[in-house]
Amino acid sequence: MHTEEIGRNLFLIDLETGGFKNLICSYVMKGAETTLIESGPTSSVPNLLSGLEELDVKFEHVEYVAVTHVHLDHGGGAGTLLKSLPNAKIIVHPKGMPHLINPQRLWASSQAVLGFVSEIFGKPESVPKERIIPVTEGTFDLFDNAKLKVIEATGHASHNLSFQESINNGVFPGDAAGTYFQEFDAIIPTTPPPFYLEQALASLDNLISLNPEFLYYSHFGKASNAVQRLNDYKEQLKLWARIAEQGVKENWSFETVRDRIIQDDKVTNRLHGYLNSHPIYSETALGTSVRGFIDYARKLWQ
Ligand SMILES: [Zn+2]
Repeated sequence: MHTEEIGRNLFLIDLETGGFKNLICSYVMKGAETTLIESGPTSSVPNLLSGLEELDVKFEHVEYVAVTHVHLDHGGGAGTLLKSLPNAKIIVHPKGMPHLINPQRLWASSQAVLGFVSEIFGKPESVPKERIIPVTEGTFDLFDNAKLKVIEATGHASHNLSFQESINNGVFPGDAAGTYFQEFDAIIPTTPPPFYLEQALASLDNLISLNPEFLYYSHFGKASNAVQRLNDYKEQLKLWARIAEQGVKENWSFETVRDRIIQDDKVTNRLHGYLNSHPIYSETALGTSVRGFIDYARKLWQ
C-alpha cells in the first residue's frame, strides 16, 4: 500500500479504491494515540488497514476516525473499519450520524446519483450509535500538544465538516475545496446535487479566516498556498454558477452547459481531456459536478 509522510506526525495513505491510484486517500495523525481523517469507502478498508500496518500504527491505538461527511467515498467504510479498530470513535456532523447508524437510505441515494461508481465504493455497514461523536464545532486534544479543530463547512453537502490540525497548520477540507489534481496543480469543483452555492462560498470564507498553510484533499493529496487556492476556488464556483444560471434561463441542454464551462473555465479547459478519459472523473467532475450547478440554478428560478 502506498503511504507517504507529508508533515510532522502526518501521513497519507492512498486507498487505491477499485484499483485507482490518486483517487481517494485517508490521513493519519500519529502520536502516542492515532487519529485518522476519512475512513474512505467500504471496498478499500483492507487497503487502509494494511497502510496503518505499514506505518506501524497499532489498531488498538486509534482513538478517533474523523469523517468529513458520510458520502460513500469519505465515510462509507466507517462501519467496516471500526470492526478492526476496537477503541476508535467516529467524529461526524450530527446530520450525518443517522446515515452511519442506518446506511440503507444513503446507499439507495448513492446508487441513484453515482450509478456504477457506487458499486466500486461498496455498500456501507452500520456504525454502533455509542461509537459516534456528533459535532459541528470544538477542538479535540490528540497526542502531545496536537489538536484537531472542527469547522462546519457545508455546501458540497449539508453536513460537511472540515478539520484543522495544529502541528503543521493544515486543513482537511473534505469536499469543501474541490478536487485537487496534483499532477496538473489544478482544482475542479466537487458539487454533486443537491449543491448549495451560498453555503459553499461562506464555508470557504470560514476556512480562509483560519489562515492555513496547507490543504489536505481527500481527492487527492497535500497542497500548499492554501489561502490562494481557497480564494481561487471561490471564483471558479462563481463562474460555473453564472454559466449554469444562464443555461437554465435560456434552456440549454446539460451538454451545452458542460461545454460552455469547459470553454470558459481555464482550469477545466486545461484538464478536460484528462477528465474525459478517466473512468471515474468523466462521471463525477464533468457529470455530477455540472449537474449540481444546474440543479442549484433551477431552484433559483422556481
Ligand atoms: Zn468526495
